Amino acid sequence: MAGLQLKGITKKFDDVIAVAKTDLEINDGEFLVLVGPSGCGKSTTLRMIAGLEKPTDGEIFIGDKDVTYLEPKDRDIGMVFQSYALYPHKNVYDNIAFGLLIRKFPKEDIKKRVLEAAEMLEITDYLDRYPKQLSGGQRQRVALARAIARHAQVFLMDEPLSNLDAKLRVQTRAEIIKLHQRLKTTFIYVTHDQTEAMTMGTRIVVMKNGIIQQIGSPTKIYNNPSNVFVAGFVGSPPMNLIQGKLVKDKEGFSFISTNISIPLSLDSASLAENKDVILGIRPESLIVTDVNAKDICFTCQVEVVEHIGAEAIIHTKIDNGEKVTLKVSGYNTLPKFGEVIGAKFDLGSIHIFDKDTELCLVSLNIK
Ligand code: ATP
Repeated sequence: MAGLQLKGITKKFDDVIAVAKTDLEINDGEFLVLVGPSGCGKSTTLRMIAGLEKPTDGEIFIGDKDVTYLEPKDRDIGMVFQSYALYPHKNVYDNIAFGLLIRKFPKEDIKKRVLEAAEMLEITDYLDRYPKQLSGGQRQRVALARAIARHAQVFLMDEPLSNLDAKLRVQTRAEIIKLHQRLKTTFIYVTHDQTEAMTMGTRIVVMKNGIIQQIGSPTKIYNNPSNVFVAGFVGSPPMNLIQGKLVKDKEGFSFISTNISIPLSLDSASLAENKDVILGIRPESLIVTDVNAKDICFTCQVEVVEHIGAEAIIHTKIDNGEKVTLKVSGYNTLPKFGEVIGAKFDLGSIHIFDKDTELCLVSLNIK
């Protein structure tokens, strides 16, 4: 078991800066998820930790050891990547066992670990098969079992579940979480899927264009996104982002947009008047109300209603053409296409972002 430190890590591929001056401390035993859209540099970061890419600048420590220029085999890490990298001429059992064999583990210990890992990944029935006799999903499960059987100091996983079908993905996700709880080893996990990040990580690192946007627990990232990008990336459906202005009168600050006027209890010292801002509100923090209700925040026109079991997602349009989504539960009747409905705040927070810098100026709890 070991923690890690990235100090000023940069990776350039010719003109492309894949990872820019990244500092990151990963605690011993934590489950850290690197998440972001395609091309944000999360795989390159992981590959540098693995030793598969050399940084252009900066240092990497595993525990107290500077591993920046060590070969992958000299770092005590277990890896699972999108490409399965299985030995085609070895059967599943031998593929899982191979790393242990070359490290001269006792045969009985190898067997125990291989069978345990195979059972966890539901591949016990395929132990005699060769990789070419397996589906892509089954091959990835073998790769996962191989890393699990290693019991390394640090596990690195790059989108290991993306080839599994939806049911197996959820099941394997839970198994990886359980495995982490059991081993208490450091896990670093890369995904573009924010749901995976939110459900698996003890801490999440949100990346964009090679730069870390925010680091925090899933709750922190969800409740206090540091900028517009994080706000829009984390959460499903994503946070509503409505453009407008902060206006001040004798009652205090209000957020004003085309047909929206929302009084805000804000500390005036921290904010400028007439500032162009973006208001962020999560779909589940809005509820449907009568268009004539006193406490209505705005009206909107229904475009699509999606039923998802106990909840429904109502996609609407406000007067300035921007889209606003409501996520409602425990409803009796749902509005119809084209209907104009009222929306008001329920529990949760609203967030005010600076339109120019896109940084969060303030997050307010809704009473
Ligand atoms: P994905 O989810 O699509 O794998 P990612 O967030 O993992 O994306 P990286 O693979 O780390 O992104 O790539 C970051 C940037 O570096 C991208 O712009 C990519 O095109 C570039 N890049 C990555 N590897 C190389 C390479 N070997 N040569 C040149 N450019 C590269």
